[in-house]
Amino acid sequence: MNSSIVLLPGDGIGPEIVEQARLVLAKVAERFGHTFQFSSHQIGGIAIDETGDPLPQATIDACRESAAILLGAVGGPKWDDPSAKTRPEAGLLKIRKELGLFANLRPIKLFDELAEASPLRADIVKGTDILFFRELTGGIYFGESGTSGSGDDETAFQSMTYSAGEVKRIVRMAAQAARGRSNRLTSVDKANVLEPSRLWRRVAAEVMANEFPDVQYDVVLVDSMAMHLINRPSEFDVVVTGNMFGDILTDEASMLPGSLGMLPSASLGDSGPGLYEPIHGSAPDIAGKGIANPLATILAAAMMLRHSLGLTEEAEAIEAAVAAVITDGLRTPDLARGDQSKSVSTDEMGAAVVAKL
Ligand code: ATP
Ligand code: MG
Repeated sequence: MNSSIVLLPGDGIGPEIVEQARLVLAKVAERFGHTFQFSSHQIGGIAIDETGDPLPQATIDACRESAAILLGAVGGPKWDDPSAKTRPEAGLLKIRKELGLFANLRPIKLFDELAEASPLRADIVKGTDILFFRELTGGIYFGESGTSGSGDDETAFQSMTYSAGEVKRIVRMAAQAARGRSNRLTSVDKANVLEPSRLWRRVAAEVMANEFPDVQYDVVLVDSMAMHLINRPSEFDVVVTGNMFGDILTDEASMLPGSLGMLPSASLGDSGPGLYEPIHGSAPDIAGKGIANPLATILAAAMMLRHSLGLTEEAEAIEAAVAAVITDGLRTPDLARGDQSKSVSTDEMGAAVVAKL
């Protein structure tokens, strides 16, 4: 089995949080008798500084050969000059494209002990545990676009296209994931208005009827979904949707837990390595201070074991260890809210997860 893991620490707090995730993975390897080979490579601002390129060829080559990739974060004020000829974020877009990562997975899980951090009432958000599948390489963001005319006739357009094949592959991936969870899948579209959504709805229904008759399946319009996420988020299990709807809904949903530092994500293709990362950015305001919350990255490492290495039990062990340190009351400053006196550092939080394992 290929068990080589590429680490892309990147910028800002990236190196600090990736190091804690690496220690957690090393502990899992020890406990379950696996060997993971780690190698670290450059991406983002640090890669621009050292090579002039936010995604050096050596990084691409290492990623292609790996079983999975764990990324910290890229970017920061140092590289924010809009006139610069290349930006750190370009490295991330390019690696996604190079690896054909068409599905973006965003779990939105609320830890009940942290429910008071949510902007919503605890009785509404408690129990929320949604896994979004957002299509990442098609739809309106990649559609034909153009402009014409001038004055009041100046016009711009951008077209939305989906093929049956693009819909099938992500619906299958989401339905498979539903089987390993509560066995429920919700597809979100705008089939009352948009032609690509009508195709999406028909193809998704066929896939579900023919291949996943055991999975409970329903469809919701995107505007309704935006409301449901606020008034009954705990009722959803797996949700699959297109690129733009997924972009908007996952950002909306990421606010529900009230703590960015707890949310991981994954980007997957049909075969080859997946890319795992926290959803938060490089947090330049706290970089180097040793106070970043490493749990989103540690949870991303758990997703990596589940989705790229087929190590479900090991993934669950990490998730249980994270839940246990939260239950024990450990809080990095971002989670500690009012009472900062008892907050722990990045390293202490990582070590506590390792100790639970
Ligand atoms: P992006 O880089 O995706 O554009 P951003 O720059 O808007 O995102 P982040 O870098 O995610 O935002 O930071 C937003 C705020 O959240 C900052 O105040 C940052 O310190 C805080 N933050 C982000 N991640 C963490 C973390 N892991 N631990 C503690 N605080 C964090
Ligand atoms: Mg940022």
